Amino acid sequence: MPIAAIYGPDDFANRPQDQATSSPVAPSRTAPALPRPSLEWTSDVERATAPIYARLKHVIPPIEWPLMAPTVHAINELKRARNAVILAHNYQAPEIFHGVADIGGDSLQLAVEATRVKADVIVQCGVHFMAETSKLLNPEKTVLIPDSRAGCSLAASITGADVRLLRERLPGVPIVAYVNTSAEVKAEVDICCTSSNAVQVVESLNAPSVIFLPDRYLATYVASKTNVKIIAWKGACEVHERFTGDELRAFRDADPSVQIIAHPECPPDVLAEADFTGSTAHMINWVRQRRPKRLVMITECSMADNVRAELPDVEILRPCNLCPHMKRITLSNIMESLLTLGEEVTIDPALAQRARRSVERMINLKN
Ligand code: SF4
Repeated sequence: MPIAAIYGPDDFANRPQDQATSSPVAPSRTAPALPRPSLEWTSDVERATAPIYARLKHVIPPIEWPLMAPTVHAINELKRARNAVILAHNYQAPEIFHGVADIGGDSLQLAVEATRVKADVIVQCGVHFMAETSKLLNPEKTVLIPDSRAGCSLAASITGADVRLLRERLPGVPIVAYVNTSAEVKAEVDICCTSSNAVQVVESLNAPSVIFLPDRYLATYVASKTNVKIIAWKGACEVHERFTGDELRAFRDADPSVQIIAHPECPPDVLAEADFTGSTAHMINWVRQRRPKRLVMITECSMADNVRAELPDVEILRPCNLCPHMKRITLSNIMESLLTLGEEVTIDPALAQRARRSVERMINLKN
């Protein structure tokens, strides 16, 4: 069924004028000095990184590898020195996702893996709300984000104060927040969800109506899959909302055999053209199982490279929308992060306790 109602900042006359905020990022701590690595392309670096390049050769030309390999090698050495792990979202560039990450995946996979990490230091290669989620689940560990400006249009669309106003307006209606929200918002809601488990989370509440925020398109998709009445918020992903149904029809007209898969953050006219809709993890599994000859992947552009590195027999056509926030993370700033232990993510302990409850409630639902 269609969403039952949609709210946004303009619907609250008494809304505080403050912008959405993330938890503060503490200044870099003084890290015990580690020697700055040499970034020369040598025969030792070539040998040490050869197995990594074997995974990347379908997406990174040989002429570019000598420019990247010394930093990849340095990061992998620094991880050992710092007892660090790198978590990377599917939207990270392939030299990060396949070159230096220990764990890759979507928000849900990263959230779950973050609870199992044994290292002292977690470097989050993704956007700020993901680093916050890792910190929520690992309060004793040092969680770093290589560039704290890596934000998200969804996380920026709503504040904790907005959630409190929604509760006042709709008392008794449970609130589900997509993980693409700040810790401040997570602290105000009943439970979190990801695009992998959104329908399951909504139905787990056994309520006739649920407030689902902040992505209006994911809310529309969830509403189409459940009988629960969905009340949405006017947020959107600036990457996925740019795709159009016309674009997809043009691909299909050019080759009727092409398979099209899309992320549920896309508008409904895009999803109507897709052969399959799912989270990034579900999309990857779909490609692994189906192995289509030609595929259009409607999501952030780097995921197509990461899938192609793994499955070079699948030809992936893509209208390429890059997330500018995800692309703030680079090999260079990952290396700096490990050298300086910056930028460290900190969250007020009382707020963290309330936000953690919403994330853990989602994770426990899965198990
Ligand atoms: S792709 Fe969209 S949802 Fe993901 S981080 Fe970028 S802006 Fe946020």
